[in-house]
Amino acid sequence: MDEKTVFKIGDRVDQMCTTCNEERGHVVVSVSKTGNITRVGCPMCASRVAYRAGTTRRAPKLGAPYDRARTYRKGQTLMHPTFGEGEVTAIIEPQKMDVLFADRIRRLIHAHS
Ligand SMILES: [Zn+2]
Repeated sequence: MDEKTVFKIGDRVDQMCTTCNEERGHVVVSVSKTGNITRVGCPMCASRVAYRAGTTRRAPKLGAPYDRARTYRKGQTLMHPTFGEGEVTAIIEPQKMDVLFADRIRRLIHAHS
């Protein structure tokens, strides 16, 4: 069986970000007609770079269920009941954070007593 993985916009792949100088999950921002990734975006520095072949689809990490009373740190993963798995990309204010979900970044409350 030779089943090719077809990617779509919003999928996540691990790739080295040359701006951050760190390997991290990137969001697929453009895909060719045949389903090959052409460009990916870094959620941290927002740079868009050409996709390098050979990187793999990011293995799902099971984050703990989202809890607004909890205090999150950048890089933590969580499971939102509506949006699914997300990764904290930035702490905006003591009680607000940006979380990258499969489709886009959403602002959520955290450390809420
Ligand atoms: Zn970056």
